[in-house]
Amino acid sequence: MFFCAQCNRACQVYADFSSSTCLVKPAMQKGKVELYTHAMVREVITNDQGLATGVVYIDKKDLNEYRIGAKVVVLAASACETARIMLNSKSKQHPDGLSNSSGVVGRYLHDSTGTDRMGILPELIDRPRYNEDGVGGLHVYSPWWLDNKKLDFPRGYHLEYWGGMGMPSYGFGFGMDTMRKYITDELGKPTANGGYGAGLKNDVRRIYGSTVGMSGRGESIPQYDNYCAIDPDTVDKYGIPVLKFHYKWTEHEVKQSKHMHDTFEEILTGMGAIILGTKPGPETQYGLAAPGRIIHEVGTTRMGDDPKTSVLNKYAQAHECKNVFVVDGGSFVSQADKNPTWTILALSWRTSEYIINQLKSQNI
Ligand SMILES: Cc1cc2nc3c(=O)[nH]c(=O)nc-3n(C[C@H](O)[C@H](O)[C@H](O)COP(=O)(O)OP(=O)(O)OC[C@H]3O[C@@H](n4cnc5c(N)ncnc54)[C@H](O)[C@@H]3O)c2cc1C
Ligand code: SF4
Repeated sequence: MFFCAQCNRACQVYADFSSSTCLVKPAMQKGKVELYTHAMVREVITNDQGLATGVVYIDKKDLNEYRIGAKVVVLAASACETARIMLNSKSKQHPDGLSNSSGVVGRYLHDSTGTDRMGILPELIDRPRYNEDGVGGLHVYSPWWLDNKKLDFPRGYHLEYWGGMGMPSYGFGFGMDTMRKYITDELGKPTANGGYGAGLKNDVRRIYGSTVGMSGRGESIPQYDNYCAIDPDTVDKYGIPVLKFHYKWTEHEVKQSKHMHDTFEEILTGMGAIILGTKPGPETQYGLAAPGRIIHEVGTTRMGDDPKTSVLNKYAQAHECKNVFVVDGGSFVSQADKNPTWTILALSWRTSEYIINQLKSQNI
């Protein structure tokens, strides 16, 4: 059975990209991959020369500990989890965690900035209906358009739009009562509450598809003091020490969020929308989402030429352990205003080619 419009959960007929369907599956079909599932890696193990010899993992089903030997270890557990694995990989040669004599592993953690606003477009109420699957954030996007030298914050943000009359998904239907208070009858008064049953159906037919919203997603400035570190007091259910997070937005991100809201208001007002909710002010950092909320965490194992200030070189190879590579967002030193995944893929491709060349040259 095939459920269409499940693109966000990996398309079952592989019509869009996801790493499980478009990378792992074809690699498996070549017959050269052995896949270990339910394997929770705890640490990278190293030899007397400080080189990696494999990993230790906990099998999530039997909760036993296992080891896999490796010539090269490539970490791609996502930025924070890779930092966690590296920090948990302590040995005589790597007393502060793998490739961490700089103390930079876990540092410079940064997420995208983000905030949102929406409105009702009266012109779209009671309109004809047709299939609008695909309208919105997946396809409609404004890249950064201003010169921030003239603004009071550095870097920039892009806009993603949402709305349309797409196929209703889980959670659909709630909030019609809230929305109809913005809609007036022919006498200019709020229309009576639709409630449930026939009234609710009527509201849904009239109002569904009349909202338009936008999200700003922007570049934050990486800070040494924004970091994750091992919590010495807490382990997860596999007995692996967990991370603790220390993160504060600076005035740069707060000012950027204020600017996003001014932009949302300008666009929505220009469209003739009734803007919903209240414009957030300084008491909420202008609606700036909490760090981690946009789920674009990067930067924890940053790349650079200087081993004193970075963890990886430009090929995402650990400075202090040449047969360990990191191919997630950990290597980022900034993430522009774009969402990170395509850059993660591009960098991991480059790293893969480098590993092949290094193996051929017997450097690793
Ligand atoms: C809801 C949501 C929406 C997003 N939307 C966008 C978007 O529109 N555009 C965009 O660019 N980015 C988006 N992102 C961010 C994007 O998903 C991540 O940046 C990207 O997936 C990171 O890729 P990765 O390979 O580093 O890590 P992941 O995709 O997280 O893969 C890490 C893998 O490692 C495994 N793993 C973790 N820890 C261990 C361990 N200890 N041992 C063994 N295996 C382990 C995990 O199970 C997982 O399979 C979104 C994220 C979320 C959560
Ligand atoms: S809309 Fe396209 S990508 Fe999404 S599930 Fe259907 S076929 Fe796959």
